[in-house]
Parts: sequence; structure tokens; C-alpha cells
Amino acid sequence: MNVARVIVDIPAKQIDKPFDYLIPKELESVITKGMRVVVPFGPRKIQGFVTDIQAESSFKQLKEIIEPMDLNPVLNDELLSLGDWLSDETLCYKISAYQVMLPAALKAKYEKLIVRGTKQLPEELDALFSGKDTLQWDEAVKRGYLNVLQKEAAKGHVEVIYRVKAKVNKKKLKHVAPMLTKEELVKVSNLLPPQASKQKQVIDFFIQATQSIELRQLIEKLHVSSATVKGLVEKGVLVEKNVEVYRDPYENREFEKTEALSLTDQQKKAIAPILTSIEEVKHETFLLYGVTGSGKTEVYLQSIQRVIEKGKEAIVLVPEISLTPQMVKRFKGRFGNEVAVLHSGLSAGEKYDEWRKIQRKEVKVVVGARSAIFAPFENLGIIIIDEEHETSYKQEENPRYHARDVAIKRGKTHHCPVVLGSATPSLETFARAQKGVYSLLPLSIRMNNQALPKVDIVDMREELRDGNRSMFSKLLLEKINDRLEKKEQIVLFLNKRGHSSFVMCRDCGYVMNCPNCDISLTYHRFNQQMKCHYCGYETLVPKQCPDCRSEHIRYFGTGTQKVEEELGKVIPHAKVIRMDVDTTSKKGSHERLLNDFQEGKADILLGTQMIAKGLDFPNITLVGVLSADTMLHLPDFRSSEKTFQLLTQVSGRAGRHEKEGEVVIQTYTPEHYSVDLAREQDYNEFFQKEMLIRKTHKYPPYYYVCLITINHEDLLKVVSTTEKITNYVKSRLSNESIVLGPVSSPIPRIKNRYRYQCLIKYKREPELGKVLKTVLDHYQQETASNGLQISVDVNPFILM
Ligand code: ADP
Ligand code: ZN
Ligand code: ZN
Repeated sequence: MNVARVIVDIPAKQIDKPFDYLIPKELESVITKGMRVVVPFGPRKIQGFVTDIQAESSFKQLKEIIEPMDLNPVLNDELLSLGDWLSDETLCYKISAYQVMLPAALKAKYEKLIVRGTKQLPEELDALFSGKDTLQWDEAVKRGYLNVLQKEAAKGHVEVIYRVKAKVNKKKLKHVAPMLTKEELVKVSNLLPPQASKQKQVIDFFIQATQSIELRQLIEKLHVSSATVKGLVEKGVLVEKNVEVYRDPYENREFEKTEALSLTDQQKKAIAPILTSIEEVKHETFLLYGVTGSGKTEVYLQSIQRVIEKGKEAIVLVPEISLTPQMVKRFKGRFGNEVAVLHSGLSAGEKYDEWRKIQRKEVKVVVGARSAIFAPFENLGIIIIDEEHETSYKQEENPRYHARDVAIKRGKTHHCPVVLGSATPSLETFARAQKGVYSLLPLSIRMNNQALPKVDIVDMREELRDGNRSMFSKLLLEKINDRLEKKEQIVLFLNKRGHSSFVMCRDCGYVMNCPNCDISLTYHRFNQQMKCHYCGYETLVPKQCPDCRSEHIRYFGTGTQKVEEELGKVIPHAKVIRMDVDTTSKKGSHERLLNDFQEGKADILLGTQMIAKGLDFPNITLVGVLSADTMLHLPDFRSSEKTFQLLTQVSGRAGRHEKEGEVVIQTYTPEHYSVDLAREQDYNEFFQKEMLIRKTHKYPPYYYVCLITINHEDLLKVVSTTEKITNYVKSRLSNESIVLGPVSSPIPRIKNRYRYQCLIKYKREPELGKVLKTVLDHYQQETASNGLQISVDVNPFILM
């Protein structure tokens, strides 16, 4: 068994297959499946993944593997085959599929070290470390110690770590551990003279504990001095060690322990089939369909509890945006240190630490955003996706996977339940639940038996007709003032998506566009700049219209800053906390702002999408939506669905507790069913209506869609290529399928590149994958040589 099959790190068509390499004699016991290795490839040295080990190869004259990059495999068998699946499903290269499953810190630009633990190592290794606790990887390789090191790694005595170069951010604590056995310690203790009572105390502690403890803790605990401990170290009774600690972002926080609540009848009914699935080790996908506040999270927690009792593990996905401290607290509160948390707010090092906890089986639960679906658990007992309708579960770059699909795939492999939770499920999911593909578990009653908040819709066109030019309707202002008087709190929500503050000339109508992208520039008040959100182009706000020289050039639209300013004018005495990308970019600021609001340091919380979820404060009795329909006009077949979901979510923020809540939605299109039905929070009715529209227009869930986008600097080239691709695809698919294009993309130009697209709608096309692969293969040469870009998005969420 000395032939390794290796997928090398070159994302290119001809290379997207395993290459055979010879494992050199001295590495035969080191190299295993799932490890990363360095191999020669042409004149280069590159890295790759070992996907298999075989006895022989059909090729002659194999090159040898140069060295391993890991001591333990980074991908287990399941993840390796999941990678293959991912590459088939999303049409990405295998190497990209493997890489997306690993934390970023495991990439080449990181310094690689071997770290020793507190255990005694064989003498030769001890010498190699020569008193230090880290060792350069290259040094160990050069001196031929990989075999020995791997044995120790398997026992957990040493470990390979990656450290971001030039940034020494490892964290170490001084620990002390006994050098002697228990019996020897007892002997030493008995021999100590009576005046050494403090030393005796320390030794007695280690007779009980027998393991290492942080020096500072020991001193505090026993009320001894560091000199006492030092004395024992000098005598060779104890040893001091620097122990690397995880950079746990939640480390200084105590999470109050919570116990399982006694479930309501409804919750019992909902959880029963999940527990059965866990008990019978049978995969099933559930849709836990319950309004906000109906107790879904408690159902998750108790299902996980059962999984842990069975000795298995759980993955919980929550949208990035709602991965708030409040959310984390609920899981840490119930399961304490068994929980790892993965989200984008963590540094690469922190993420890697959390990932290692999973890999070393030190935790049982991971709570994280999209990529946590690849957590390297080997004994999964449940996968939960909260707010399953959230679009952030779809990755918008290669590999363009949807976490829900990956979850179900892994659920099947592990024979475990997958629970999708939402108050406003995606149409696809709800349709599947109706057809019985997923099991529907409804939770219809809110825990506090509160009715859903009363919702008023205000037609802003009428406000305008009545002479109200402000961004607040009379009704909303009235209600805000009323709450201020009652000392209750208000949330104001600005739907920013697809809506920005742009600059327009009032005389000639000139709108400032980005010179590289066909899209208007966004006004940033704070530094008086205009910015392109696609390419980053920046310029100062002009004082005159570039077109007609008029000085009546103004910005339009509403950003959170503008709203804050306006609020200051109409209600100067209200204290406002603004939450948007600008005020929350610093680490921890998100949390601090929310805390301030919870503690009543402000009356009004003003923000974007960011505040739509997860807020659960008792004193919020009014929610105002300033502009409900800005998203409705986007060229996206899901825009009604997204509007409905968002409005329903936001409304759910009011009246979660004893005090009754009210919602005011301001809109220019009150008659639109997604606004109207959000008012009644009538998901079922919305589902019926929207399904009809999807059916008529042949969109999901009736049809699958697939989007091919082509871009290049040369417009003619783009058009002709798109035309060729469209024709080819048409010729290869059945008559039942619809191929639309070539057509210019909704954003026709980004960064000076023209964009055209072809949209495929189909019901059943078993050959589609092959057809698309052929297209990509065909243009491989051109994409490599002259910068033509072709992207294929199977089940796209962004159609721009
Ligand atoms: P959801 O996740 O559906 O929004 P939660 O699980 O957050 O709902 O529940 C809403 C509130 O009700 C929370 O404060 C939660 O602690 C409480 N709760 C949930 N289940 C129970 C129960 N069985 N008994 C008492 N309180 C509960
Ligand atoms: Zn002008
Ligand atoms: Zn631009």
C-alpha cells in the first residue's frame, strides 16, 4: 500500500482528478487518507489532499510525495466523499470542495508548528524540543522525526498548529503539574518538615488532583505564594509548563446554567417524532413550523439533549445575522463547555481553535453560520437549521452550495434527523412538507399565549398627498410619542436591501453612476463620499451637477444616518441607538449596543436587517417599518417571498412578553399581497398566492432554475459567447425545459466587465450536470487565457 491518490491544489479542469504518487518508504506509516501532502507537480511543489491509498497504480514511474502537511488527517472519510458529492452538485472543482470544508487558518500562508502537551515524550523527542514547547515543522521534517511524532500525535501528546505569520497571537498560561507519581508525592509530603506547611498543602492538592492546573488558580485556591510553588519546582516535585489555551471568544463570560423546561403539549407533540428518529437512528427531515416565540429553540435544545445522552453530536446552524450573544447564551447556558461557536466575527485563529475542539471531540455541539455544516463530527445525531428560509445559507461563491442540501446529505449518511425551523419557511421547503417529503411539525401558539401584535399599514403616497414630506407618517409619530411617554421601547426598522441613498440633480434628473459598473453610487454622509458597493470606487460628492452645472444636487433615499438625523429634528428628546454596518463594525459593538438598549439607555433602536432577528426584550411595544417595499422591485422571483418574510420577522419583535405590541408598516404599495398578508401574519394564505404565481411563471418550487452568467471586458465577446452557450444548452435539453437568453444581467456591468446571462428552468434534466460541465470544459482554455468568466449557479439566490 504505497500509492497515494492525490487531488492537487490547482483549480483547473484537466487537473480535477486524483493523481498517483508514490509514498516514500520512510513515510509509509505516516501518510493516511484525508491528509494534506506536498507533492511535485511539473516543476512546482504544491499541496494536495490524499483521497485514497492503494497497493498499486496503472501508471509507471510515479513521483514521490515530498512530505505530509498534517500528522492527523484533516478530512475524514465522510467529508472526503461529501467533497466529491459537493463537486458534482455544484459543478466546482474537487479541490475547492475540500478546501471549503476547512478553516481558513489551514492555508499555506500560516506558520506551521508542532506543540507538545503536558505529557512526557520519548527522550529523543524531548531532546528535539530542547526545553521549548513548540518546534518548527520544517525542523522536524529535516531531522526525520515524522514517524515518532505521528505516534505521539495519535496519543494526543503533540499536535500540529498553524499560526498566522508575523502576528504572534497565541495565548499561553503558566500551568504547574506534578513530576512524581501519587505514591511518591505521599512520601515527599510525609518527609516535609512541619514548618513547610504551605508546601505540604500544595503537594496534598496534587495527591488529590494528579493533573496540571493553572499557576494563578492554584495560588488563589490554596492561598499560597508563588515562591512556595517555585520551591517545589526547584525540588523537582512539580514542573512548570506553558500551556497553549484556546482563544475562546466567550471565555470570560459566565453563562447561567439553564435546565430543560417542561414542554407544553404542543411542544411535546412536535418533539416526539424527532426523538423517535434519534432513537431509531433513522434519517428524516422535519419542518418545525412555528411563529416566533412558539418555543422552537426549546425543542432544539431538548432534542440535542437526547443526542448528547446517546453519546452523539449536534450541528446547529443559525443565520450569521442572528448569531447574537443572546442566541449563543441559550446553547452555552444549557450545554456549557460542550458547545463550540463558529461565526464570521471570529478571527482566523479563533475559528481554527473552535474547529480543533470539534476535531478532537472536546465538544458535542457546534452552533454556527453556514460553514459550520462541515463540522468534522464523526457521530452526528442531529442537524438543526434555524430560520431555514434565510438566504445566507446559500454560499454565493464557489462552491455555490446550500447548507440545507449539505445537511440533508449528511443526515442521510449519519442516519439522523434534520430539523428545519422557521415561522416563514421558504416556499421550496413548505411545498416539500405539504407533499410529505419532509414531516411537518407545527407550533401554532406563542409561549405566552399572546396574540400576534396588531399591525397597521400606512400608505405613504397618501401621506405625501396630505402634505407630509417627512419619512415618518403621522400615525407612526403619534405612536412613538405615546411610547416615549409610557417609557416603553421602540424599534425602527429600515429595509436597506436594494435601496440606497443616491445623489440626483433636481434640475435635470442626473443620477451619479459608477464609471465602472452600471449602478448608482451610494452616498456616505460621514465622509461626504460617493461609493460604489460593487467595485469600491469612491469620489467626493459634487457641489454642482456634472451635467447641467445646477447647484440643486441633493441626495435622496434614506440611510440609517439620515433617519437618525430626522428623528433628532422631530423628537429631539428621544434617545436613539443606531445599529448598522457603520456602528457595529468593531468587535463586540453589536453586543454592547444591544445591551445598552436592553438596559434602557435608549428609547429607540434604529437599524437595518441586522435588528430584524433575535431581539427578545420585554419592553419593546412598538415596531415601525419605515419602508416596506424597497425590496419588492428587485429583479428577483423571490422578492415577494423575501418581503413577506422580513415584514413578518420584524413584526415578531413586538409584544413578545406581557405588554402588548403594535406594528406600523409604512409602504408605497399597501395593496401588494406580500405586504397585506404580512399584516395578518398569514403565512398559509401567502403560500397559496405565491405558489400560484410561481406556477404560472414556472419558477421554483415547480421548476428548478439554473443561472449561467458570462462576463468579459469586451461586450461583443460576451454576447456571442452567451449566445453560443444558450444555443448549445437548448439543443441538449428536453422540450419541457425553458432556456432564457442571452439577455443582459440586471446589473449589466460590474468593474468594467459586461455581464450577460442565460437562465434555465427545468423539471427533470438528468443530463444537465453533464451538459454544463461540457460548457465549462469547452471554455476552460479561454477562461484561463483571455479572462472570460463563466459562472454556473445551480439554484441561484441572487439573480443580479
Ligand atoms: P422560538 O425559538 O420559537 O422563537 P423560544 O424557544 O425562544 O421560541 O421560546 C420563546 C420563549 O418561551 C422563551 O423565552 C423560552 O424560554 C420560553 N419557553 C419555551 N418553551 C417553554 C416551556 N415549555 N415552558 C416555559 N417557557 C418556555
Ligand atoms: Zn443637473
Ligand atoms: Zn463600481
